[in-house]
Amino acid sequence: MPRAAAGVRISSIPKVALPSRRPDVEISPSRTAEVGGARVRRALPQRAHRTVGAWCFADHMGPIPASSDDPMAVGPHPHTGIHTVTWLLEGALLHRDSLGSEQVVRPGELNVMTAGGAVSHAEEPVDGYSGALHGIQLWVAQPEVTRHGDAGFEHHAAQPEIDLAHGRASVLVGSVDGVVSPAVHDTPLVGVDLEVRAGVVTVPLEPMFEHCMVVLEGSAVVDGQVVAPGALAYLGLGRDELTVASNGSARLLVLGGEPFESPLVMWWNFVGRSRQEIVEAVTAWNAGADRFGETGSSMARIPAPVPPWSTEGPESAPSDQGAATGDDRPRDDEESPTDTV
Ligand code: MN
Repeated sequence: MPRAAAGVRISSIPKVALPSRRPDVEISPSRTAEVGGARVRRALPQRAHRTVGAWCFADHMGPIPASSDDPMAVGPHPHTGIHTVTWLLEGALLHRDSLGSEQVVRPGELNVMTAGGAVSHAEEPVDGYSGALHGIQLWVAQPEVTRHGDAGFEHHAAQPEIDLAHGRASVLVGSVDGVVSPAVHDTPLVGVDLEVRAGVVTVPLEPMFEHCMVVLEGSAVVDGQVVAPGALAYLGLGRDELTVASNGSARLLVLGGEPFESPLVMWWNFVGRSRQEIVEAVTAWNAGADRFGETGSSMARIPAPVPPWSTEGPESAPSDQGAATGDDRPRDDEESPTDTV
């Protein structure tokens, strides 16, 4: 099987007993959130699944109908500790960041920004485009070894594809069946856009990964359960393939990876390991600290909301060394507001 060359670092994977049977599909509704003036379906994080591999955030936006008066736009805002992955099915967005990147992303193209210790960016409407917008923005948590590192930006004009009898797979991140994406990732990870046309498709998966599925268009059936936009289908660990059926046509993302190394603390656009470092990032951004740079956008900078726990006094679990304790994580999804794409 070509899949054996998928580049999974077996040596880094803790010994776990894989389930002896295929895991059940767990379907959970996405939350509705408001981003840049548009309603989005936030499939990740979920209370029961804050991460799937290193995937820690998934905002499905649109389709937002064509509008010339109030297009989706998000002013300059910062990030830490993640890669942002932007993938459109329809429309266009202009990305500007503090590295000097200025890049329009359109359907079939992939933007991947690495925050490392600090970055800032803006997402603007594209001059002359007033059509519909439909897409997803994903965040990938960076591991301890890279999360304080340099920021970066990649634009991939075309993604490697696999033709299937009843569809097509575009490999956005990682590899499928030996077909490898050039996009950056710091942990064993996969992201695939799967198109299913009136039939059944099967793609091989890495059984040491956990996987989930987000349907962007149409509806799909997996293990006898119907999955449609507005939900996360968690597929668990231990699957060596995924079979998806659709009566009409469906577009969906399959996301997976090695279970992430540690719990995350997420607040607004910051992803870290402790509340203290998040408070430091909020304070730095709101003070205009140099570490976040300038995006070159003419839109207004978005101030960071101050977390309610920033005034609770010193943390009981000190420092950002090592894994955060369970107590250090937000108690509720509502504690992680985000108004960015
Ligand atoms: Mn952003």
